[in-house]
Amino acid sequence: MSSYTIGLDLGGTNLRAAAFSADGQLLDQVARPTDVNSGREAVINNMVEAIDSLRRSFAHRQLLGVGIGVPGFIRLREGVIVGSNNLKPLEDFPLRDAISEKLGTSVILENDANAAALGEKWQGAGRAVNNLVMFTLGTGIGGGIIHHGRVMHGADGMAGELGHITVHPEGNPCDCGNRGCLEKHASAMALMSMAKLIRLGDDLTPVEIAHYAKQGDTRAIQVFESMGRALGIGLATVINTFNFPLYLLAGGLLPAWELFAPTMLAEVERRSFTFRNAHARIEQATLGNQAGLYGAAYLPHQPVEAD
Ligand SMILES: [Zn+2]
Repeated sequence: MSSYTIGLDLGGTNLRAAAFSADGQLLDQVARPTDVNSGREAVINNMVEAIDSLRRSFAHRQLLGVGIGVPGFIRLREGVIVGSNNLKPLEDFPLRDAISEKLGTSVILENDANAAALGEKWQGAGRAVNNLVMFTLGTGIGGGIIHHGRVMHGADGMAGELGHITVHPEGNPCDCGNRGCLEKHASAMALMSMAKLIRLGDDLTPVEIAHYAKQGDTRAIQVFESMGRALGIGLATVINTFNFPLYLLAGGLLPAWELFAPTMLAEVERRSFTFRNAHARIEQATLGNQAGLYGAAYLPHQPVEAD
């Protein structure tokens, strides 16, 4: 009997689940609303239903396990979300065990940015390497570190929070308690704040700001150069720390690559001795918003770590 795994990507608005063969082929995918306003039980039922509908389709195969990527800080050993922006009803609750019990199969919980980095390692831009770092540029900035082919978790499962690297000592305050975090200077929210600050416009989306920049608007160009500098500072720090062969950027801001990458790469070149003297590549991820699904589905293939 051929085997398969299921990955689930839990978002604040929608959740997606997909079945994958053991060699990484996407077999089928379902999506439904997360429905977080209806409370914890509703969200859990939606997750279980999505997984169950795939299980019914693949009853002739052996399910190896289920991996779930969730936005926020998690305590890995307990399978508990301890901090999230948009899934408050699920916090401080044994989510992994509750779902595992309802399904009668093993479940692994992982941070969504870690899962996305693992997905790129499995079937995306990181296939050829075993060590990589990925920054996911979205509303905020997520990070994932893959070491020896596995997610680097740290002692409590909170390693890889690259969005909270300080890039400006006295910069904008962040919800994490720090100031000048990378995600306060290089995320979609940061771009929108900058556009407002320099009077380019209120409530402009990153796509609109990029449109102005491509038309030659110098203020819009400066917004992306500022983003590039912040990313370059963050990258230089990470490159100096790890000396890995590959650093990936992913997420919704990737289409603006040409607008921020030249400044970013110049900043890395200037700031990182390691980058100037080692063989590191800084590239775009290739799985798009499917990376988290791939990574979640890869989790059951990785034996439990003893750390
Ligand atoms: Zn922060």
